[in-house]
Amino acid sequence: VVIVGAGFAGLATARALERAPVDVLMVDRANYHTFQPLLYQVATAGLDAENIGRAVRGIFQKQSNFDFRQAEVDGVDWGTRTLLTDGPPVPFDVLVVAAGATTDTFDVEGVAEHGLFLKTLWDALALRSHVLRQFERAAADPRVIDEGALTVVIVGGGATGVELAGAFVELFGHALTKDFRHHEVPRAKVVLVEATDHLLDAFGPAARHHALRTLQARGVDVRVGAVVDRVTPTSVHLRDGTVIPAGTLVWAAGVRASPVADALALPQERTGRIVVDDTLRVAAHRDVYVVGDIAAFRLKDGSLLPQVAPVAVQQGHHAAAQIQRAFAGQPARPFRYRERGSMATVGRHAAVVELPFGVRCTGSVAWLMWLILHLVTLMGFRNRVSVFLSWAWNYATFDRGSRLIVDPSEPWTSS
Ligand SMILES: Cc1cc2nc3c(=O)[nH]c(=O)nc-3n(C[C@H](O)[C@H](O)[C@H](O)COP(=O)(O)OP(=O)(O)OC[C@H]3O[C@@H](n4cnc5c(N)ncnc54)[C@H](O)[C@@H]3O)c2cc1C
Repeated sequence: VVIVGAGFAGLATARALERAPVDVLMVDRANYHTFQPLLYQVATAGLDAENIGRAVRGIFQKQSNFDFRQAEVDGVDWGTRTLLTDGPPVPFDVLVVAAGATTDTFDVEGVAEHGLFLKTLWDALALRSHVLRQFERAAADPRVIDEGALTVVIVGGGATGVELAGAFVELFGHALTKDFRHHEVPRAKVVLVEATDHLLDAFGPAARHHALRTLQARGVDVRVGAVVDRVTPTSVHLRDGTVIPAGTLVWAAGVRASPVADALALPQERTGRIVVDDTLRVAAHRDVYVVGDIAAFRLKDGSLLPQVAPVAVQQGHHAAAQIQRAFAGQPARPFRYRERGSMATVGRHAAVVELPFGVRCTGSVAWLMWLILHLVTLMGFRNRVSVFLSWAWNYATFDRGSRLIVDPSEPWTSS
């Protein structure tokens, strides 16, 4: 069984096959799993990259039927049932596609060239380094502040945009204010731009209101009903003619299936997700399962399941169970999603939680629930301990420890 992708869906599939009489080979371009829900904390200097990533071989050290291959999948030969990669080809009997999603820039001019994104650990480190570099530039020459060097524009008012905006104002208001005490940090700005008339589209009115009011009270310039027309290295142009001078543009507005979906040339829906039947298989290849963000699983009302971690995990478990049923000569069963609710944090003591059966809460209680859930679901005991200690330290001191500008393109790297 070959699994493409070491994200939530791929890991869940591999784990659930632990006792199955099969050989499992996981293929990923990275040798580690990334806990994406905490990427924004790496980008805003709250956590180190190592806190939220874990080496795949380490995760499966004790699983005897498991092996790993670091490779980028870029095609398939359906005739010989072989995946094509940037290394040797990988033959399979059963294929599980769990390659996740990437960012969709909607072809807005300048975004691909000048925007920063938040999907991978490298994205998070690049964003952190870019923002901190703007502060160093401004310290050396305050005139660049007038050109927007200390303005961060975040496009997309979903959970990622809201979490990032809340965390950036905290970083600017505390740690960076102390670091750059002789400089003009109070002129740093965070602007959150959202095309619809509300934030947190996936949540109800109370949660949306809480997020909006909290961000505004903490100094975020929230612009709803604003559409980005084009972007330059130093400015963001809105469709209504407004120009925001900005040294940083974070694009958190669109999601598209991983290019693996195109490479496999399987039927896709509008945003590139591979169309699956109710058993998570593709119509043309009954030994191919597609799970997580890259799968287009339609509910009875015609809507697609959201691209969130609980869906990925449940689909991974389901695919593993169907693989075992197929080996035992039993027919595949349909997948049923069990709704687990949603949550997002807005910053210190502020979060929104919506659980099944109409349970809703906002504020400190929701924030505590968010902290506990993310700690518990984080991969690996060591990561949990280090994240807990970092959070406790950040909470008690208002400090944010990971303020290093690290960039592999720095000219002075020793290689
Ligand atoms: C910033 C951010 C915040 C989020 N916050 C939340 C949250 O709070 N709650 C929530 O439920 N969900 C959240 N999500 C969504 C959640 O992370 C995803 O739904 C989940 O990661 C999907 O799991 P997956 O296994 O399908 O894909 P992923 O976790 O994306 O894993 C895909 C894997 O495939 C690998 N891969 C991709 N292409 C190739 C290739 N060509 N060759 C080899 N390997 C490849 C990647 O390296 C990656 O390891 C967030 C996502 C982001 C980006």
